[in-house]
Amino acid sequence: MRVAARRVLVIGAGQMGSGIAQVAAQAGCGVTLQDVDAAFLERGLQAVRDGLQRLVRRGGMTETDAAAAEARIALSTELSAAQEADFVIEAATEQLSVKLGIFRAVDALAPESCILASNTSSLSITELAGAARRPERVIGMHFMNPVPVMELVEVIRGLQTSDDAHARTVEFVRELSKTPLSVRDFPGFVANRVLMPMINEAVFALQDGVADAETIDGVMKLGMNHPMGPLRLADLIGLDTCLYIMEVLHKGFGDSKYRPCPLLRSYVAAGWLGRKTGRGFYPYT
Ligand code: NAD
Repeated sequence: MRVAARRVLVIGAGQMGSGIAQVAAQAGCGVTLQDVDAAFLERGLQAVRDGLQRLVRRGGMTETDAAAAEARIALSTELSAAQEADFVIEAATEQLSVKLGIFRAVDALAPESCILASNTSSLSITELAGAARRPERVIGMHFMNPVPVMELVEVIRGLQTSDDAHARTVEFVRELSKTPLSVRDFPGFVANRVLMPMINEAVFALQDGVADAETIDGVMKLGMNHPMGPLRLADLIGLDTCLYIMEVLHKGFGDSKYRPCPLLRSYVAAGWLGRKTGRGFYPYT
């Protein structure tokens, strides 16, 4: 293992934030995982423990290394760890107002050289950078779900992002044993510009009664060789996150082809957000 020895503040202890904290701790970074509520932090830390134990069971890590990785993660409901951070990675809820508030707050605390990264799935890095006094050191680090498993990090350069910040971020992604692919700042970047309309269309197919969820997913798995059908993938991502991303694409491009499916809106309104709430297009126990 290469020891990255960086100090990282991860904001948001949901499924993405906990995964990012895990891979950063595995790489040797000192990590603070921050959220608004201690209960969310405990849930996030439990997800890290489960992830590390899965690796131990599969022979990918020793018990000693797993314990050392867990010990590198501190929990906090405050943002004060930004004061010592080399990298801040924001992985809070996909809502612009939430992220702008976080960027303003950490920008005021973090040292000059610290890079402020967002794990946003679709929001404008350029706009987030606009909330900071260091727009040249604001960048997108878009991890894939589940973070400990997926190799890609989409690195997104805002209009103001400097070459130096981009190079440092690419290097950091490699230290996390991930593969960086750099893209420009457009709504949904590459990953979700291509993926989300497919998921949204699968929801339309379900709404129209073309087939049931299992059949729609089966067609895409058996017919297109996708490892997971689009509706099960939507449940994994979180239906609220899928809806936010479709809204960003719709607003950002002003094209009706990105209109969110009404059935997706209904599920989100019902609180059926997928795996994280125990029910989405499928039930989860
Ligand atoms: P989640 O709902 O599992 O977790 C979000 C967390 O953010 C919650 O614990 C919430 O309490 C916390 N939060 C909200 N406001 C906060 C604030 N002001 N300060 C600190 N914490 C706050 O969501 P997630 O799936 O982990 O997604 C997080 C981010 O990652 C989003 O931007 C999402 O678009 C992006 N993302 C998600 C996926 C995915 O598959 N779910 C993939 C890539 C990127």
